[in-house]
Amino acid sequence: MRTILLGPPGAGKGTQAETIVNEFSIPHISTGDIFRQNIKEGTTLGKKAKEYMDLGLLVPDELTVELVKDRLLKDDCRNGFLLDGFPRTIVQADALEEALNSMNQKLDYVINIEVNANLLVERAVGRRICKDCGQTYHMTFNKPIKDGICDKCSGELLQRKDDTEETVTKRINVYKEQTEPLIKYYTQKGIIVNIDGEKPISEVGEEIVAKLRGK
Ligand code: ADP
Ligand code: AMP
Repeated sequence: MRTILLGPPGAGKGTQAETIVNEFSIPHISTGDIFRQNIKEGTTLGKKAKEYMDLGLLVPDELTVELVKDRLLKDDCRNGFLLDGFPRTIVQADALEEALNSMNQKLDYVINIEVNANLLVERAVGRRICKDCGQTYHMTFNKPIKDGICDKCSGELLQRKDDTEETVTKRINVYKEQTEPLIKYYTQKGIIVNIDGEKPISEVGEEIVAKLRGK
């Protein structure tokens, strides 16, 4: 199954990705995670991406598109993939379509997680990520058993540098201007699946899996 997760910052894309990839045995490809890994490793790509990410802006299309195209050619994507946070612009969506066409592939679904703007800042500012395994928590809505410690690997939980109120607000505006037009783009292609992302995490996951299974 070839799928995209669409939705504003803090909608729950990364959280639901875990359920979807386990259910359908496909790789989770998050461009945000790839950029953060590059920043951690101090690569040239990481240094360039960081300049934009810290400001809440999108990394330029030319850097992002090549990265995803290379990733989709890897063996583990042969039976499908879940793209999380890509595409984020019409240019990226067109480039994705072209790349898939050249591989004789097409998208099955675009899962659009809908959450009202007033909930997004609270979600993103309260987000904590394990510095070792990347597991996501929330200080109120999805707490770890022990404060500040990952349930899975006992790693330290950190706040993302771009999860301040100011940068999240900027990212939501960037989403509205540059990414939201993709809802119409994929609706016209007839592959959008709209999901109410305001329900509790487990209910959102169940609804996504049911819709992807055609129930
Ligand atoms: P995204 O990848 O779309 O930016 P995340 O999956 O990282 O969003 O979720 C943002 C924050 O909101 C995280 O701290 C997560 O634990 C929390 N969260 C995700 N889904 C829900 C939900 N349905 N209800 C409440 N909190 C949620
Ligand atoms: P995310 O982890 O999806 O919240 O992304 C974090 C940040 O990474 C974004 O605010 C952007 O700066 C950058 N980023 C991630 N994916 C993309 C993309 N597809 N296009 C441009 N920038 C991206």
